[in-house]
Amino acid sequence: MDISTMTIRKALDQMQAGEFTAKDLVQACLDSIESKNENLNALLSVADSALAQADAIDRKRAAGEELGALAGIPIVIKDNILVKGWTASAGSRILEDYQASYDATVIKRLRQADAILIGRANMDEFAMGSSGETSHYGPTKNPWDETKVPGGSSSGSCAAVASGMALGALGTDTGGSIRQPASLCGLTGLKPTYGRVSRYGAVAMCSSHDQIGPIAKTAEDAALILAVIEGSDAKDATSVAGTDVFIPELVQKDLKGVKIGIPKEYFLAGMDPAVEKAVREGIEELKKGGAEITEVSLPHTEYGLAAYYLLMPAEASSNLGRYDGVRYAYSSNGNDLIDSYARTRGEGFGAEVKRRIMLGTYALSAGYYDAYYRKALKVRTLIKQDFDDVFKQVDLIACPTSPSVAWDLGAKFDDPLTMYLSDVYTITANLATLPGMSVPCGFKDGLPIGLQFLAKPFDEASIFRAGMFYQSATDWHKKTP
Ligand code: GLN
Repeated sequence: MDISTMTIRKALDQMQAGEFTAKDLVQACLDSIESKNENLNALLSVADSALAQADAIDRKRAAGEELGALAGIPIVIKDNILVKGWTASAGSRILEDYQASYDATVIKRLRQADAILIGRANMDEFAMGSSGETSHYGPTKNPWDETKVPGGSSSGSCAAVASGMALGALGTDTGGSIRQPASLCGLTGLKPTYGRVSRYGAVAMCSSHDQIGPIAKTAEDAALILAVIEGSDAKDATSVAGTDVFIPELVQKDLKGVKIGIPKEYFLAGMDPAVEKAVREGIEELKKGGAEITEVSLPHTEYGLAAYYLLMPAEASSNLGRYDGVRYAYSSNGNDLIDSYARTRGEGFGAEVKRRIMLGTYALSAGYYDAYYRKALKVRTLIKQDFDDVFKQVDLIACPTSPSVAWDLGAKFDDPLTMYLSDVYTITANLATLPGMSVPCGFKDGLPIGLQFLAKPFDEASIFRAGMFYQSATDWHKKTP
């Protein structure tokens, strides 16, 4: 079995046909982990129970029992999603010894679907980052070139899937953390509509933006995972029962009748010309498939980054208030209670997290609240209105995922503003609560480029239709590092 090109779809079919067992599949992933993880630093730990989980699936199959939709499929879990009994560090020192006492809803659903939880994926600390370098546990490297970043914050999830350590992964996306590393690692990654997937059991960063979503090699595989994890959940009041994720009849071999808008503001000066060329060629491919392509305008795009980098730290500063050394994990004793809080947070949080807590606290403080936080909320509404207007004319938007391919490790680390700029094409979907997916659409100097699709809330079906058409017409997603 060639694990590097194996997809979830193929593995399900071939296991069903008896060509290999779940144990063979898990062993192949464990072999990749054994040979590659030391360099890539994609996984923080590997489940001792992986082979036993696979064995149980194989026995169920042999006994003719009914199997779940992801039976025997090894999935990697970003370390900010709780798996009962596993450490959930969220890439932070402050949660180094924190053990999850319950399963996140998405984990419960993966278990019910007979998926195999194979390991914990490294990530930027508390999902703050675009490069995988803010993790307390060291940077993850890009499997296409180990001198480059894999993107972030779902850096380990993407590096693991791209290097054959698992067939799929869960990530979280608050401002692009599924789509951008998927783009930089040559994968397909979907940020679902806000509310489609329960956040119960995900470590909160910016609660009004955070969404859990799938990372895989193909759009079809991403749809298979999403179909398992999505849906309303009594434990997350923002979750709702959506329309179908994936409508097989909609996945025709063409895009006739589909209107796709190309936002002119998404082709900015400063974007790598090789990225623009690959994305424009990708759009040509959609046109050949029968899609009607029109230029559209999202006039408030340029304010997206500024609004995001106020709202996100504001919500994070409030969410991270719970790590006080008393209730969770890391604790450092000081002379008195206040000193203990200060030491715990000073030692437990890394530089990027502290920077954002300070920014957020400032933006929320009396006197500044109206000037910054409230203003950013208004910009958020304007950005949402831009999309509402455009989606009256078109079914989908196609645009780049990231303005550049993967950059050198360390190149932007000391320059947060330049780092933040790499999120320019992904954050608007979070501000507007829309679904978005990145698919591979080319290479520059051997490094992958991503094409992004955005749709109306809860219209993931249109995104999958376009993504699956595109992947039936191109081979970019079949390339391996
Ligand atoms: N790169 C963005 C940030 O640093 C997005 C993070 C995310 O989506 N979790 O905030």
